Amino acid sequence: MRNLILLAVQGAGKGTLAKALSEKFGYVHISTGDILRERASVGDELGKKIKDLIDNGIFVPNDIIYEAMEYKITRPECKNGYILDGFPRNLEQAQGYEEMAKRLGIDRGIVINMTLKDELLKQRIIGRRVCKDCGSIYNIYSDNEQFKPKHEGVCNKCGGPLYQRDDDNEEAMKKRINTYFEVTTPIIDYYKEKGILYEVDSTDSDKTFDAVVKILKTLGDKVD
Ligand code: AMP
Repeated sequence: MRNLILLAVQGAGKGTLAKALSEKFGYVHISTGDILRERASVGDELGKKIKDLIDNGIFVPNDIIYEAMEYKITRPECKNGYILDGFPRNLEQAQGYEEMAKRLGIDRGIVINMTLKDELLKQRIIGRRVCKDCGSIYNIYSDNEQFKPKHEGVCNKCGGPLYQRDDDNEEAMKKRINTYFEVTTPIIDYYKEKGILYEVDSTDSDKTFDAVVKILKTLGDKVD
C-alpha cells in the first residue's frame, strides 16, 4: 500500500479517518500530536516545554519533529504503508519531509486533503473526547451513534474513561485554525503542483472513508 499524508484543519476528523484506515487495512498510523503528547507526559524539561507549546496551540520546533518522524517512518512495520497525521504541517516541513523521504529511499505517498465547513469545525473540536485506554475518538455532539458516547465520560468500546484534550478549548482552537490557514494552506499548493493532492469532504466520516478507498482503488491499491 502506498503511504498517505492527511491534511486537514484540526478537528476535521484526521485522527478518526487515520484510525479507521489503519484498522481496516493495516496502515501504521503516525500522529505527531500523539507522539508529542506521549513525550510531554514524561514530565522532564523537554516534556514540559512540549506540553506548554501544545496547550497554547503553538508549533513544536522542527528539529524535534524531524527526529521523531525519521525514527517512526524507518520502523520495519511501516514498510507496508503508513499514514501521516499532523505532519507535514507547514511548507518547510513538507520540503523537509520530501528530502527526508528521498534520502531514506521511502515513497513520500499521496496527499488527502480533508475539507470541512467552518461552522462544523467548532463542534468537532469542543465536543471531542478521547478514550484514555484505547484511544477511540468520540464527539458529544455527533449524530452518529458510533461516535457519540452512550454514557457520559465512558468509552463505548472498552469502558475506559474519556477525556477532553487540554488544547480542545475555544481559545486554543481559534489559534490553531488561524495558524492552519496561514501556514498549512501553502502545502496544498505545493502538493497540487506535484499532482499528488486528492480532496475529500469530511462532513460525514463514513462517506469520507469511502471516498478515500475509492481514490486508492482508482490508483490500483488493494483496499478491499
Ligand atoms: P494534533 O494532535 O495534531 O492536533 O497536534 C496537537 C499539537 O501538537 C499542535 O497544536 C502542535 O502544538 C503540536 N504539533 C503536532 N504536529 C506538529 C508538527 N508537525 N509540527 C509542529 N507542531 C506539531
